[in-house]
Amino acid sequence: MNFVVTPPAAVSVPVVGTADRFPVHRVYCVGRNYEEHAKEMGFTGREPPFFFLKPADAVVAINAGETGSIPYPSLTKNLHHEVELVVAIGTGGKNIAAADAAKHIYGYAVGLDMTRRDLQGEMKKAGRPWCIGKAFDQSAPIGPITPAAQAGDIHNAELYVQVNGKDRQRSNVSKLIWNIAETIEHLSAAWELQPGDLIYTGTPEGVAAVVAGDTMVCEVAGLGTLTVRVT
Ligand code: MN
Repeated sequence: MNFVVTPPAAVSVPVVGTADRFPVHRVYCVGRNYEEHAKEMGFTGREPPFFFLKPADAVVAINAGETGSIPYPSLTKNLHHEVELVVAIGTGGKNIAAADAAKHIYGYAVGLDMTRRDLQGEMKKAGRPWCIGKAFDQSAPIGPITPAAQAGDIHNAELYVQVNGKDRQRSNVSKLIWNIAETIEHLSAAWELQPGDLIYTGTPEGVAAVVAGDTMVCEVAGLGTLTVRVT
């Protein structure tokens, strides 16, 4: 088949233990899914989960042991890190019950939901979409995907991000307001999940700014580290 313009390159993420790669379909993100982060953003109480998306080509896949880089994005003066557990969907479906969710998971990775916080705040205040604050180019760095069977006890895994060697965010996946299975139940009621979907499950407290020259080292226990430099 011929195309009238060059088709975009497929986006993919390395997989631990194989040279084969995980192809990215969509990138879903959960908002305010840790209580202490919800509080620092000015919200309290358990609200139904809500979602936003990033374009697949916002993914920056970084190999194990390598330092990746992202450019400091345009328009912002307040670029925030949000370290997150990322769920990789291997089997699609809609209206997936929480009890069946595990069967749909291929694996897990550590990711960063980079956020132009000032622009997100302006959009929130105006009641407008968050896209410009969340869904910008190279806003979704991610490390290699660990297949679920090799990921250990992911539901009780510690996660953190350090910037230039100092702790910024440190929490535990057990503190998710909506856990992985519940998130998949809610998400698949709204969209039909497809193999290749990534779900950024939300960030704990401690979100803060980075500037050009900063290096972020992130980890979800059992999934290795993700190192990203802002240039
Ligand atoms: Mn987030």
